[in-house]
Amino acid sequence: LPVMNRRFFSPAPLQVGPLQLTGTEAHHLLHVLRAAPGDEIILFDGAGGEFSACIESTARKTVACQILQERSVNRELPAELVLGAALPKGERQRWLVEKATELGVTRLVPVETSRSTQQRVKQQRTNTPHDRLQRTVIESCKQCGRNQLMDISPTTSLDVFLRAAPAASHRWMAHPQGATSAHAKVTPAVDLPTWLLVGPEGGFPEHETTQAKTEGWQTIDLGPRILRVETAAIALTSLATLPTG
Ligand code: SAM
Repeated sequence: LPVMNRRFFSPAPLQVGPLQLTGTEAHHLLHVLRAAPGDEIILFDGAGGEFSACIESTARKTVACQILQERSVNRELPAELVLGAALPKGERQRWLVEKATELGVTRLVPVETSRSTQQRVKQQRTNTPHDRLQRTVIESCKQCGRNQLMDISPTTSLDVFLRAAPAASHRWMAHPQGATSAHAKVTPAVDLPTWLLVGPEGGFPEHETTQAKTEGWQTIDLGPRILRVETAAIALTSLATLPTG
């Protein structure tokens, strides 16, 4: 198998020994990659573990593997990173989920603000099911080498989200013209959890930024151009995750 296609996800916890792969991953191995006995693969369970394995036999819908050994690798960020965002719809939402997974976000929280509520009511009929977003997380982890799945929380009100950040955390919210108030600079965090927040297309009204500041959040200006929600989410996340120097 080509090296880049070798990672497969198992929803069951992994340990050395025999394992039957079924479902989407077995289908991909059998009918897309035409895997054969003797092929070597890498399995991850989404909870941090990565294992080398060998295909022993194949059937129409299942692949029998032998898990050989655990590989000790850690591609997670040094500290928890929570990203709250008023999620866009459709393909832009999928894009945000994929990129946030690649950048190592621990948990994505869809946040409902006063200006996103109406939008969400309209969206409910066409809402992307959690399962589809979860599949995007898995595909992204397969591709980028991440062994820990990004969590996606249930939709949370802004008020609850702002207060959920622990007192000992970095709390940064993207807000245009944040420069007019004294604003902070984002640095990659290694010591404390980092909580980030991005608003809806309509932005945050003043009462929401005031509440956030009361709860210990700092506003961050991302430059003079107005970014769409998913661009702002990834720009802010990269400031907090990419290694400097
Ligand atoms: N007219 C809205 C406003 O004035 O806030 C624009 C909202 S923007 C399309 C959506 C979200 O992305 C904002 O709520 C903010 O969190 C973030 N954002 C976009 N551009 C930004 C920038 N230049 N600086 C800081 N945050 C930005």
